Amino acid sequence: MNKNKKRILLFFGPPASGKGTQSDMLAEFLKIPVISPGELLRQEQSAGSKLGIEAGKRIAKGKLVKEETIEKILAKCLDKKDVKNGFIFDGFPRNNEQLKLLFKKLKKMGFDSHEIIAVYIHLNDKEVKTRIGGRRVCDCGASYHLKYNAPKKNSICDICGKKVYRREDDTPAVIKNRLKLFHEEILPLIKYFKENNIVIKVDGSGDINKIQKEIRQELKKYL
Ligand code: AMP
Repeated sequence: MNKNKKRILLFFGPPASGKGTQSDMLAEFLKIPVISPGELLRQEQSAGSKLGIEAGKRIAKGKLVKEETIEKILAKCLDKKDVKNGFIFDGFPRNNEQLKLLFKKLKKMGFDSHEIIAVYIHLNDKEVKTRIGGRRVCDCGASYHLKYNAPKKNSICDICGKKVYRREDDTPAVIKNRLKLFHEEILPLIKYFKENNIVIKVDGSGDINKIQKEIRQELKKYL
């Protein structure tokens, strides 16, 4: 695989499909940054910023945050991160408006010639619900699963040593809304990329390292 080729990778998948974990692993391999609006919003929430408090009310209900909030978040991190060699979006775009915003932004940044590849991690609704119960996260951005990828020390983050916790939007009632959004808004986006032959689809139910290997293998086809 040509690691130096400039790519914009878009990670799609239902909640708890492993988008965050897989995009972080791939980013380390390709040496490009990951931009995760969900993660950035949680950081704003923990910092208690106005934007974070406002967004938190919608996140807690499993709703998308407002477009203007996403625009602010994206502007903030696209300025800060070193994106000139390509980057990964984890959790953006999430609807048709955001897809249009993505193309507008790439054009403005002079990235029209970068290759866009969508990576779809598939997991059925039943597995999503089972998995979500075991998910734990840390404020530093690390994500764990009590059964499949547990922290080495009970409830303590391997990376920063803080206590890991359950996301407030990982409750059964909220997950119902998030799954609904996935089916109604995100699946049509994946269809769009499929029609343009730029989707890598992997089964998200297996071993973390195997899934990563498969993504890298599939990416080779896009040299
Ligand atoms: P995630 O960590 O990607 O599952 O995102 C957690 C929550 O953050 C979502 O359920 C939304 O409330 C919000 N969020 C993340 N990304 C977006 C986005 N692109 N547009 C609107 N809301 C978002």
